[in-house]
Amino acid sequence: MISIGTPEGNAIRCPVCANIASAADVTCSKCGNTLVFLDPTLMTIALSAIPVLDRELIERMRKLVSDVKPQKLRIDFEKVQLPSAAVFGSFLVMVKELKKTGTVIAIRNVDPQIQQMFVMMRVDGLMETESV
Ligand SMILES: [Zn+2]
Repeated sequence: MISIGTPEGNAIRCPVCANIASAADVTCSKCGNTLVFLDPTLMTIALSAIPVLDRELIERMRKLVSDVKPQKLRIDFEKVQLPSAAVFGSFLVMVKELKKTGTVIAIRNVDPQIQQMFVMMRVDGLMETESV
């Protein structure tokens, strides 16, 4: 079992939104993301509670994914706003790193403006777009 939780009784910090959750929680009370990943086959990160991406968030995601090493990472972009160029750059570094390790990256609910950025940066081919 893979868990990002600290030993029982201690508070844990959500790796996605940095909310402090109780160690007993399985999902974050703020963003709803899974705090304990039982199955490294597929990891889903939903960003709807954190629509404005920043580099710190991308860094937390990168750390989380490199700890869990999922075969497939699904990122749900619902409500996510067009990020700044710097944040976009950090995201793309993460995507390219993951591709090198063979992780399949799937994205869903991507805003057309963000999708257009992926196409312009020629990284759309690195990720599978899932229709919901
Ligand atoms: Zn959270």
